[in-house]
Amino acid sequence: MHVLSDIQEARQAVRGMQARGESVGLVPTMGALHAGHLSLIEAAKQRCGRVAVSIFVNPMQFGPNEDFQRYPRPMEADLDACLRAGVDVVFTPTAETMYPDSPLTVVQVESMSKGLCGAFRPGHFAGVATVVAKLFNILPTDVAFFGEKDYQQLAIIRRMVRDLNMPIEIVGCPTVRERDGLALSSRNVYLSAVERARAVCLNRSLFAAQHRVVGGELRSDVLTSEIRESILAAGEVVIEYVEVVDAETLAPIETINRPARICLAVRIGVTRLIDNVGVE
Ligand code: AMP
Repeated sequence: MHVLSDIQEARQAVRGMQARGESVGLVPTMGALHAGHLSLIEAAKQRCGRVAVSIFVNPMQFGPNEDFQRYPRPMEADLDACLRAGVDVVFTPTAETMYPDSPLTVVQVESMSKGLCGAFRPGHFAGVATVVAKLFNILPTDVAFFGEKDYQQLAIIRRMVRDLNMPIEIVGCPTVRERDGLALSSRNVYLSAVERARAVCLNRSLFAAQHRVVGGELRSDVLTSEIRESILAAGEVVIEYVEVVDAETLAPIETINRPARICLAVRIGVTRLIDNVGVE
């Protein structure tokens, strides 16, 4: 496994594998790898001959009052996990390498970045789209793998690739969950035991809503108020949003008459958690 922090070396490593006739899959991450990340690596291995993983806590996607400083960075354990997972190349740039000057060129995926998390994290998705565009340029891989856990991010990246004709295919992978249904997240380590117990209200309320849709309830306002009620019943939590949106455009929808996504963000103590489910 090659661990590279230099842009030229990383690009050459990818090109070298492609020159030998192998397709290369990319899994962009911010590290603190868990089974969710490993499922993306596994999907990449199934699909491509070689796998590259990037580990970079991207300062550009954190707001001034967010958790950039304390975001977990267990680099040794992450490299170990990549090695065991059979990753071929790990790209671990520094912030200075990625942003030698503050960038004048920023990728904005306009309307899709404004709602849902975008309304609570101004500038976040410009930071995400910009760093992912840079990673696609640095690591000219064939396919990139993203988790549905960050559904808005996945939809925005798909749209960026389409709008800018980027020569890469985007594959979305299902959310990996704990046994009780909580979506795995690097931020779950911030939760106290009491908060962790409370956090299952996110997935439980979403799964219940999914059942309601299967049972014929297609009105977004009914579904979102039921979700809000059941989350608030769990105790001390702050709901940022609960919304039903079009699965592709992320535009809010009133009636579920096409593929849709129920998305939510909740703060439990100092920890911000997101989750979502698909409904048809
Ligand atoms: P992050 O390191 O949080 O930026 O996540 C890197 C990639 O892993 C993103 O594409 C995430 O959507 C994906 N990911 C994070 N958590 C999960 C999960 N529980 N299941 C599947 N994918 C995930």
